[in-house]
Amino acid sequence: MGVVVDPSDLDPPTDSLKRIDEVLDHQSLIPLEHLIFLRWAGHYYGVGLEVMLAGALPKWAREGRAPITETLAWQWNPEWEKPRGKVRQALFERCQSPVATEHLKEHWSVARALIKTGQLLPAELPRQPAQTPLTLNDEQRVVVEAVKQDAKPWLLEGVTGSGKTEVYLQLAEAQLKQGKQALVLVPEIGLTPQLVGRFEARFPGQVIHLHSALSDRKRWQGFCEVASAQKSILIGTRSALLTPIPELGLIVVDEEHDTSYKQGESPRYNARDLAVVLGQHRNAPVVLGSATPSLESIANRDAGRFGSLTLRKRARAACPTAHHLIDIRGLDLHEGLSDKALDAIRQTLERGEQALVFLNRRGFAPVLTCHQCGYHPECPSCDARPTVHREPRRLWCHHCDHQSPWPAHCPSCGHRMAVLGQGTQRLETTLALAMNPFPVTRIDRDSAGAGGAGKLLALAQDGLPRVLIGTQMLAKGHDLPNLTCVVVVDSDAQLFSGDFRAIERLGQTLIQVMGRAGRADKPGSVWVQTHQPDHPVWPRLLTGDYAALAQDELVLRKRAGLPPHGHMALWRARSPNAGEALQHLRDVAHALRDGLTEGVRILGPTPAPMERRAGQYHAQLLLMGPRAQIRALLNRPIPTPSRRIWRGLDIDPQDLF
Ligand code: ADP
Ligand code: ZN
Repeated sequence: MGVVVDPSDLDPPTDSLKRIDEVLDHQSLIPLEHLIFLRWAGHYYGVGLEVMLAGALPKWAREGRAPITETLAWQWNPEWEKPRGKVRQALFERCQSPVATEHLKEHWSVARALIKTGQLLPAELPRQPAQTPLTLNDEQRVVVEAVKQDAKPWLLEGVTGSGKTEVYLQLAEAQLKQGKQALVLVPEIGLTPQLVGRFEARFPGQVIHLHSALSDRKRWQGFCEVASAQKSILIGTRSALLTPIPELGLIVVDEEHDTSYKQGESPRYNARDLAVVLGQHRNAPVVLGSATPSLESIANRDAGRFGSLTLRKRARAACPTAHHLIDIRGLDLHEGLSDKALDAIRQTLERGEQALVFLNRRGFAPVLTCHQCGYHPECPSCDARPTVHREPRRLWCHHCDHQSPWPAHCPSCGHRMAVLGQGTQRLETTLALAMNPFPVTRIDRDSAGAGGAGKLLALAQDGLPRVLIGTQMLAKGHDLPNLTCVVVVDSDAQLFSGDFRAIERLGQTLIQVMGRAGRADKPGSVWVQTHQPDHPVWPRLLTGDYAALAQDELVLRKRAGLPPHGHMALWRARSPNAGEALQHLRDVAHALRDGLTEGVRILGPTPAPMERRAGQYHAQLLLMGPRAQIRALLNRPIPTPSRRIWRGLDIDPQDLF
């Protein structure tokens, strides 16, 4: 299967291409304007249009299968009398008005028979909302009117529970009334049945929901129904953005700060950033919603490139939450937990409520710290934190290349240094013993299995007293109404990470997790353990002042020329032989240095923080500077790697691992 893009634009000329045996589509699957968008995206991320097309087309499209769409709804044929049989009669009753096909699934074999005989006829579902929209509060009304007036990118900053979803729903409704379609992007772990359910309740039969658990057939069908404008609302994770949507009138990116919008493999696009571009191409408003926006979006808003929208009030009242910082320096810990934290958990359980023990384990970011005094190593020659390398064991500054061995003892107080940021597998056992007879449930990717965390979370929704142990997966999603106590075990690794985005992400995660303790009718408490009680992030985080934290960080980023005040491109390379990828990137750096212009920096190459993965040695080379100059630099010729070396380019990298 191939895609003919523009016959007049063929390079190399036609004789080197395969002959066309058969034309599969009589009408293009991908409208010209979408092709132009995909071409732009490919160019920006340094991949060919064919790579973006492969991402845009589901497997069945790439196999050249015929389009499939399903009849959306069925209605009883009035020429037929009420049938005999219990199931048939139930269907007769239900189908007096149109019923969506998916709602007939449980009796599908009977329904199919009735369709065959013509007792059930294809029908159209009503387009107007089924569930009545809520009456917007003043803040929400301002937001909805602003977006309706101006088809530009908007940053919608609103705490959890401030009514963002209701705003999305009403904006989508306005588009549907004009015969337009809406695209709603959600993070991978945020794709909750709750959000999808609210859209389906409001727009029955109009919602297509694309996610990773779908069969190839379902995916192809959803694609066809959106691409033919039969369905009006597409909800999906990042790749949904590449789907052609002919009548696109609105793009929503929920939890716009979420890192899952950036694809971790080629093409390494960021769906949030591309959503803004797509909106421009299609003259559609783009709403980026978050309680804790990315610094990129805050900078865009502050510079006037994005419109500014805010929801300050919670749509429903919540009790205040008490925040406590626990200084754990020198304390006896039980698998990482202090006595204070254990007491807080026990009291919560004894009150008949639920507690969440949150493990902050984002990526691989170990840090060396002294448990006694909180000392942590710094690079002797610059501001940056050295990155902890395990193999070989050394501290390596990725900014100035300074290397030193791990200190065994604290230079400040002489105690042994410890590695933080490790997994805490035994925590579950320890807690189960300490909290007996209350159950302890660990919810993460390992324990969740194929069914996802949904089942375990649904279990926790019973509200019975229990301890939940979880990672980022638990930060968002299902409502846990009886959860009143949150313990953050250890976030210090992120305070001193070599990753410049670590504090931003810490802020986003902790604000979200701590928000889980705030409920309508019961006061909540949050306990944060740290070796660094004097760190300036704590006053910001413990008062929930994300905006101030973000402004602090933006000042630091500007000073260092880091995104969003400068741009980055990262060459990654790997090879089965030690040193080979690193050497190749040295050659690349050498070739690039000739073209270096004012304001552009080449950092590295260095081995990746986790250098050996899956039998391969990883290395990286970072370019930093103004966007146009980075672009110019990337256009320069560089040496081709040998066949043993894989090399890839990451534009606007999110993780420097
Ligand atoms: P967010 O998406 O910002 O977390 P939601 O849209 O889910 O917030 O709203 C939080 C809760 O408040 C939901 O239960 C929702 O039904 C309710 N809500 C939202 N807007 C209104 C409104 N205008 N009037 C009454 N209840 C509302
Ligand atoms: Zn340094």
